[in-house]
Amino acid sequence: MSAPHGLLFLSAMPRTLDPELRRALAARIRYYNEMGIYDFYRQPLSVVTEEVSAPAAGDEVEIAVSIHQPEHQPESGEEMSPRKATLVAVPRAIEENIFEVIALKPEQSVNDPVKALQIIREDLGDCTRCVLHTQGRKQIVFGVGDANAELMFVGEGPGADEDAQGEPFVGRAGQLLNNMIKAMGIERRQVYIANIVKCRPPGNRTPERDECATCSPFLMRQIAVVKPKVIVALGAVAAKTLLAMNASMMQLRGRFYEFKPAGVRSNDPEWDGCKLAVTYHPAFLLRDPRQKGEAWKDLQMVMKELGMKAPKSNT
Ligand code: SF4
Repeated sequence: MSAPHGLLFLSAMPRTLDPELRRALAARIRYYNEMGIYDFYRQPLSVVTEEVSAPAAGDEVEIAVSIHQPEHQPESGEEMSPRKATLVAVPRAIEENIFEVIALKPEQSVNDPVKALQIIREDLGDCTRCVLHTQGRKQIVFGVGDANAELMFVGEGPGADEDAQGEPFVGRAGQLLNNMIKAMGIERRQVYIANIVKCRPPGNRTPERDECATCSPFLMRQIAVVKPKVIVALGAVAAKTLLAMNASMMQLRGRFYEFKPAGVRSNDPEWDGCKLAVTYHPAFLLRDPRQKGEAWKDLQMVMKELGMKAPKSNT
């Protein structure tokens, strides 16, 4: 019997999952991720059409796969429309361990973080996964810095200068970020810098929610490779995307969050996530320099966490 349209039916799978099958399913899930499909959740088998014969009890559950669609992003807590779901039948053994399956990434077998980041960059390729590839980007801005950095900065997306040079934070906001890093007593080359989206939004507009959702899994993989001790989210878009929460900058700043990159695990069992702090985006500080003192308080909190001391001129 052929599977109905939109349904991957895996009833022929053995009950005991063999490694080959596990790899095949991981590849399938990666394929869905690359199509912009990230959310998997269970639905009762009764939802399936009558064309599908029910598997033996305990063998399979269904996973409804949500598809990110720019024209309608469900608000938090909103039910996913059934018309936007593809049903996938997955053996229960996998369903119980679904996040582990999702976490299998090609770079995880590589110990050298520089090579691992290269693998992620190659995986990204000449990316066309979201509409930003059609909106005038010159190049993808992947990330820069020390692949072993203890401190990572994450911004929103590339601007015109970054798009032209292929490196994050190289324009005026980048110069201010460099000064902020210097004020902490370290140099730019000692940290890792990346953005939520890797292509320039036209006119420097804020990236849309679906663009962030499509691009950020690659950032999560970069984070899992770099394994920082602290991430500083620069601005509301970076903070809200990384923390998957909606709050004002006033609510987000001034504390640490426990952070683990979503959907991926580090290959280092010693690294179980990191701390995340939120501060203002340097572009905002250029527009409202009065907030620089507040940003410095955020960075001092980070420095204390990392056991860093500011140079004497800043104390
Ligand atoms: S922003 Fe990210 S997901 Fe969108 S096209 Fe660029 S690299 Fe791909």
